[in-house]
Amino acid sequence: MENSNKSLRLFFALWPDDATRDALNRTGKWLHQHWGGRRMRADTLHITLAFLGSTPIGQLDTLTACADAVRTDAYELILDQAGYWRHNRIGWLGASQTPPQHLELVGALNTALQAAGFPIDPRPHVPHVTLLRKSQGGEVPACAPVHWPVSEFVLVQSVTESDGAHYEAIRRWPLA
Ligand code: ATP
Ligand code: MG
Repeated sequence: MENSNKSLRLFFALWPDDATRDALNRTGKWLHQHWGGRRMRADTLHITLAFLGSTPIGQLDTLTACADAVRTDAYELILDQAGYWRHNRIGWLGASQTPPQHLELVGALNTALQAAGFPIDPRPHVPHVTLLRKSQGGEVPACAPVHWPVSEFVLVQSVTESDGAHYEAIRRWPLA
């Protein structure tokens, strides 16, 4: 295949619908008032399911087959808990309760990826939307719960530009 050695920076993610993105962005503003730092642009907000990193284009068909193998029902994810990671100074919104379907989705995807020989993240998955970078953190403010109807997952290409990473969903998989 032509150019099959060219690589793309890729990851699987949940991408918010417009209403969910607006709600997440409002929480980003709220959290920024408390913790400072750099707010993520609204159009970048997402939840990473599996990070692949630099991947040869020739492996896209294998990746697609991995995602095709995932059979998870649609679900609602309620993001109601702010969190802060000191090691990378990230402020995020997560879930006090993770629905079993979400863990099943992440588990099935990673199992398929591992079986196909892709490197997977050994750390336990913490569903989170990064809202702030280079943030100081502090006392955790109460956050209005964001109800995210999860009806698909996507494969995203990440392109680094002068103003930060830009993301483009290049494939989509609906959940039943
Ligand atoms: P930048 O790296 O340019 O600051 P970014 O981190 O948003 O921007 P990417 O590095 O392409 O962009 O990462 C895309 C997504 O994958 C982000 O949600 C990021 O947190 C996550 N991610 C990046 N590296 C890893 C990794 N090694 N393991 C797990 N998730 C990762
Ligand atoms: Mg990064």
